[in-house]
Amino acid sequence: MRIQFLGAAECTSGSCYLLSFGDKQILVDCGLFQGPEELKQRNYGDFPFVPAEIDAVILTHAHIDHSGLLPKLTRLGFKGPIYATAVTADLCSIMLADSGHIQETEVERKNRKLRRRGKPLLTPIYTVEDAAQTMDHFRRMVYDEEIEVFPSLRVRFRDAGHILGAAIVELWITEEGETTKFVFSGDLGNQQQPVVQDPTAITEADVLIVESTYGIRLHEDREGRLEHLAEVVNRTMDKGGNLLIPAFALGRTQDILHSLRVLQDRGDIPELNIYIDSPLASKATEVFLKHVGDFDYQTRTMMQENRSPFHGPNVHFTETVEESMRLNSVSGGLVIISASGMADAGRIKHHLKHNLWRREATVLLVGYQAEGTLGRRLQDGAEEVRIHGEPVRVAAEIETISGFSAHADQEGLLSWLRRFSHIGQVFVTHGEKESSHRFAELIAQELKVPVVVPKLDESFELKGAQALSTWDTSYREFSVEEDFAGVCQVTRRAEIQYRGAFGLAQRRFKIRNNYYTAFNLGSARQFFAKLALARLAEQGKANLPQAAEDWEGELERISGEAPWIVVAREVLAPAQLSSAYYYLDQLPAGAASGYTTTRTGQEVENIYAILREGLMPQLFASAPDLTRLWQLLAQGELLPLPVVEEILAPYWDQRLQVYKIEGKAPGAQVAFGGTLEEPTAVVVLSNGEQGVLHAFEQLAAGGGR
Ligand SMILES: [Zn+2]
Ligand SMILES: [Zn+2]
Repeated sequence: MRIQFLGAAECTSGSCYLLSFGDKQILVDCGLFQGPEELKQRNYGDFPFVPAEIDAVILTHAHIDHSGLLPKLTRLGFKGPIYATAVTADLCSIMLADSGHIQETEVERKNRKLRRRGKPLLTPIYTVEDAAQTMDHFRRMVYDEEIEVFPSLRVRFRDAGHILGAAIVELWITEEGETTKFVFSGDLGNQQQPVVQDPTAITEADVLIVESTYGIRLHEDREGRLEHLAEVVNRTMDKGGNLLIPAFALGRTQDILHSLRVLQDRGDIPELNIYIDSPLASKATEVFLKHVGDFDYQTRTMMQENRSPFHGPNVHFTETVEESMRLNSVSGGLVIISASGMADAGRIKHHLKHNLWRREATVLLVGYQAEGTLGRRLQDGAEEVRIHGEPVRVAAEIETISGFSAHADQEGLLSWLRRFSHIGQVFVTHGEKESSHRFAELIAQELKVPVVVPKLDESFELKGAQALSTWDTSYREFSVEEDFAGVCQVTRRAEIQYRGAFGLAQRRFKIRNNYYTAFNLGSARQFFAKLALARLAEQGKANLPQAAEDWEGELERISGEAPWIVVAREVLAPAQLSSAYYYLDQLPAGAASGYTTTRTGQEVENIYAILREGLMPQLFASAPDLTRLWQLLAQGELLPLPVVEEILAPYWDQRLQVYKIEGKAPGAQVAFGGTLEEPTAVVVLSNGEQGVLHAFEQLAAGGGR
C-alpha cells in the first residue's frame, strides 16, 4: 500500500493525503493552500489524481486548510462519500459556502480588469453552488464508533480537542490479508483549551502522521493568558477606549468569548458590552450551540447554569452592515471581536480605521499574524498604516497574547506521543520546514522510532512498518549549482518523482520561480517545429525530411505560414498545453525573464533577442507543460509511436540512456526528454545560462534505471 503527501508537507496548509491499497484510493483531507504564491498556485489546475477514481474522503475537521478543496473535488467528478463528524459537516456547510463566495468575488474582481483589456476570463476554483453540492456527499460520524467503509477499510474518529468536531482519525487497512493501522493526528488541540475536550490519547499505530505547527514552540499557559487578558481589558476600560480583537470566525472567536465569560464570572473584569461583528462567526456559533454535547465539562456546566459564554444580555451578534457601522461612532467601552484574524480583510478593517488613531483604544492580537498582513504590521510597531487606501496613524495600544492557539505546543504534542505503546513509523507534517524537521529529530531521540518529514508530493510504499520513498534516494541527494535559477521535474508513469523550483523569475520585483513558471525554450523551438511538420506529414500535407538544419524554416517553407502559428495549431492546441509564443518585451505574469551576461561581464535582463528575421516571438513553456507533452508522445497520442521514435532518434544520449532535447537563447537554457517506456519525463528549465546540463544529468541518472 502507498501513501502520498499532497499537502501540509514542509508547510501548514493544503492538508491532503492519498492512500492507495488493493483497488481502492482514498483521501484524508482535501484542504486549500494558503500563504506564499507558489503554494496558492496549487489550488488551480488539475489534481495529481483522477477525482472520479477516489473512493472516499475522510475529513478530520472543518478548517479550510483541511476541507477547502472538497467542492473542487466534487466539481471535477468525485462521486463517493465524505466521512466527518456531525459538527464538522455542519461547520463545512457554512465554511465552504463562504469560501465559494470568496472565490467567486475574487475572480469577478479580476475579470473586471481582464474584460477591460479584452483578455480571456478566469473561472473560480469553485462556486457557492459547488459548495452546496458537496454537502450531499457528507456521512456523519460519531466519535469513538468504528465503521467499515469497505471490507478493506475500517475507520474510527476520536476527539482531537482542536476545534469543535475536530478528529484524530484511526484507519485499519487490510491488503493481502495483512492489516495496517494508520493514525492521523489531524490538527491536535491544546490541553485545557476553552470549549473543547482535551485530545484523546491513542496507544497504537503502525503508521502515525502527526502535525507539527508548534513543534518547536511553547505557549503561555491557561492561567497566564487569562491574567494577561484581564489586564488588557481592565486597562482599556479604565482609559475609556474600545478593545478590538481580530479573530478567526471559527474557533478563536468562541474561545475569546468563553475566556471573557470566565473572567466576568470571577469578577476579575467588569461586565462588558461585547459585539461579535462577523456574520461567519455568528453562523459558526449557532452551529456550536446545536452540538452542546461535544463541549468540554466546564462549558457544558456553564450552559446548564445559564451562563452561556456565547449569549447573554451583554453579548451582541451584529447582522447587518448598518449595525456594524453604528459601532464606528462609539468611542469607548466596547469589546469588538471581528474577522479576519490577521486584519487583512473583513469588517475588522473598518473598526481599526475608526479606532487605531485613538490613544485610549487597544488592539489585541490573539492569533498567528502572517508576514505581509495588516495584523503583522501592527504587531511590528508600525506608526502609520494604510486601510482602504487611506493613511491611519497608530496611537492605540497594540497587545499580543500568544496562548490562545488551538494547536498543541511542543510539550502538548510530545505528551500526546508519549501515550503510545507502539509506533511503527512516524511522518511529521503540517508545520513550517524548520518546525517539522526539528520536531522530527526530537521524536526520534525521545521515542526511538523511524521518523520522516515527507516532501510535498512525495509518496511512500509501506511494507509492514517499513516506509520506502518511491522517490529514488538519489533524488533526495539532488542539488543544483549555486546560481541556478529555474525548475526541475521528473515524472514517471504520471507520478511526480521529484520537483524543485529555484531562484527568481523576475529579479526587479523579487518574484520567485515556482513549479508553474513558464520559461523561454530558446532553440528547443526547433523540436516543436519538427513535431508540427510531422503532424502535417501525417495529414498528407507535407513530407517529413530526414534531417534539416532549420526546422522552423522548413515548416514555414512548406506551410506558407509563420512557424509559431503552425506550431500553436498543430502541437500546442491538440496537446492542450498552456505554452505560448511571446515577444520578450511583452511577457505575461508567470513567465520568467531571462538573465544574460554582456561582453563587459554585466548581468542584464534580456528583453530583445536578435534572431534570424529580426524580432520573433519566443516559445515559453512550464515544466508541467513539457511533462504532459512527453507523456502524450510516449502514449502515441500526438503522433504514431514509430514516427515519434524516428523524430526522437537524433536526440538519443548514449551515455545517459535517455532522449535529451536542448535549447538555448541569451538568458535561457533548457534540457528536457526522458524515456518512452514507463514514460519518464525529465525537465530542466532555466532563466539563466548555467547549471542546466548538470541538473539534467543528475536527474536522468537517478530513478534506479
Ligand atoms: Zn485546524
Ligand atoms: Zn490545519
